[in-house]
Amino acid sequence: MKSLAILGSTGSIGRSALAVVDAHASRLRVASLAAGDNADLLAEQVERYRPDVVAMAAREGVGRFERLCGTRPAVVAHGAEGLIAVATHPSVDIVVCASAGTAALEAVLAAIEAGKTIALANKEVLVMAGALVTEAARRRSVDILPVDSEHNAIHQCLHGRTRAEIRRIILTASGGPFRNHPIGTLDRVGPKAALQHPTWRMGRKITIDSATLMNKGLEVIEAHWLFGVSASQIDVVVHPQSIVHSMVELNDGSVIAQLGVTDMRLPIQYACSYPERWASPLPPLDLTRAGRLEFFAPDRDRFPCLGLAYRALRTGGTLPVVLNAANEIAVEVFLEGKLGFTAIPRVIERTMDAHAVEPVSTLQVVRRVDDWARVQARDAARALELLV
Ligand code: MG
Repeated sequence: MKSLAILGSTGSIGRSALAVVDAHASRLRVASLAAGDNADLLAEQVERYRPDVVAMAAREGVGRFERLCGTRPAVVAHGAEGLIAVATHPSVDIVVCASAGTAALEAVLAAIEAGKTIALANKEVLVMAGALVTEAARRRSVDILPVDSEHNAIHQCLHGRTRAEIRRIILTASGGPFRNHPIGTLDRVGPKAALQHPTWRMGRKITIDSATLMNKGLEVIEAHWLFGVSASQIDVVVHPQSIVHSMVELNDGSVIAQLGVTDMRLPIQYACSYPERWASPLPPLDLTRAGRLEFFAPDRDRFPCLGLAYRALRTGGTLPVVLNAANEIAVEVFLEGKLGFTAIPRVIERTMDAHAVEPVSTLQVVRRVDDWARVQARDAARALELLV
């Protein structure tokens, strides 16, 4: 029996993780849950899974949760301390990190120090602090198992291979809703159109990131930290059917791919069962129904965010922190309807240009640069707002 901590239990990945627990009730149990502000759903989850520890983002959320919830977990906490309590509880074996944004950084590092296996769905943890997190994991001999579907695919393809045998990692991208949109009218695209993802159902922020290809850019940085490959060894191909979840080219020229249905329960279950494989309740992949699998080179002019992410990775240090923070602000302002779609990469580029890069030596550096970039990006967005 493995015990899970789920950070972000009320979000899309968190709910899929609980569905995996349901499907494997004799092998998995829930030890602890952390949620943002959805007290209603968290209360339902606690009634059902009876975790030992529960945390919410804010004290007010905890108050509402306690009024709603009949069962009382042993520990109910909030804020950064709450996340750490959920991630490090002694009964926890695997921490499923599915919370959005940067809040989980300290909790993931604390979980690694406590020797927990990390099932990582959150991109920010590696984009912002990849050096610190992978170094801590190496030191404590802790596995970081990727839940992001592309990296999960690569992890499966690499099974038993050494780094020296990898020639290239090929991440697939759906291309988002604007792959064939006339480039001249992209600046008039609004949040509603950008939120229509062709193949995956996900949260709002990541759906916009998929439309700009920033999601793939963040995944390039993630792949660097997870698999120890350089920027020049990571390629992106657009694959609109999202059936090939990613590929690895080995040094003899063989390309190993992982294919599957587009359902996050599959990579979550893999991370929970690893190194075993468990039977899954998901429908089998029917390639004859899929018909054709297409692959295209990404259009870098249409999607400048991808190039910005490569630049951040090549430069290194704190530049990926700036990329991530500026993108979060730009997407937030875009979703408010105050920024044009094509202004998103411009906000990010201006913020990156204004940054004096330094090494990521501590989490304090990461936090300070992240705060700086958010203020700077808001100024850049305000300056561009008038232009749209
Ligand atoms: Mg992904």
